[in-house]
Amino acid sequence: MAFVFPPAAQPSVAVFESDLRFPVRRIFCVGRNYAAHAREMGKDPDRDPPFFFTKPADAVVDSAEVVAYPPETGNFHYEAELVVAIGKAGSDIAEAQALDHVWGYAVGNDLTRRDLQLAAREQGRPWDWGKAFDRSAVIGPVRPVARHGHFSSGAISLSVNGQSRQRSDIDQLIWSVEEIIAILSRSMTLQPGDLIMTGTPEGVGQLVPGDVCVVAIEGLGEISTTIGPAR
Ligand code: MN
Repeated sequence: MAFVFPPAAQPSVAVFESDLRFPVRRIFCVGRNYAAHAREMGKDPDRDPPFFFTKPADAVVDSAEVVAYPPETGNFHYEAELVVAIGKAGSDIAEAQALDHVWGYAVGNDLTRRDLQLAAREQGRPWDWGKAFDRSAVIGPVRPVARHGHFSSGAISLSVNGQSRQRSDIDQLIWSVEEIIAILSRSMTLQPGDLIMTGTPEGVGQLVPGDVCVVAIEGLGEISTTIGPAR
């Protein structure tokens, strides 16, 4: 096939202890999946079924990279998250089979322009400008299920310049990985290369240029991001 100009490089994330990369197809994100975070965002955690937003595949950033402070925001936030990497296609996936579709897990940071997200939320507009901007999805090396198993519990934590900001446990997810895959696959056919960012616990807050933000999940290691000057 010939193109009118060279197509963009395939977005990808690292695979733990491997030279191979995991090719990214889409990034689905779960909103409000920890009760305490839903409350800090002014919402009732018990009433709403899960909802999703997306980021473009080429928003992915590896651990240890510098992310420039993004444009058009004065309230740039971190969000520590467990990331699920899908390795097998499926639609209408039953919860009992959901984990068969998981290739691996990673640590993620759902970078957010909170001021733009909240303005959109209040006006009933899409979240894209708050969530789906350039370099907004920091995702660490994916650990294959084949070698590291599944993750349904374990501490998740985030620090900024060595100071603790978020601390919870994966077992506090309102909607489990199995439930998220089952629900998402009713609306979209999941495909290999899809990533799911499963939501963040309480304690979200600001990043400014010069900050070093580290996210860790027990059993999945940690990722680090340095915030650079605004471009
Ligand atoms: Mn998030």
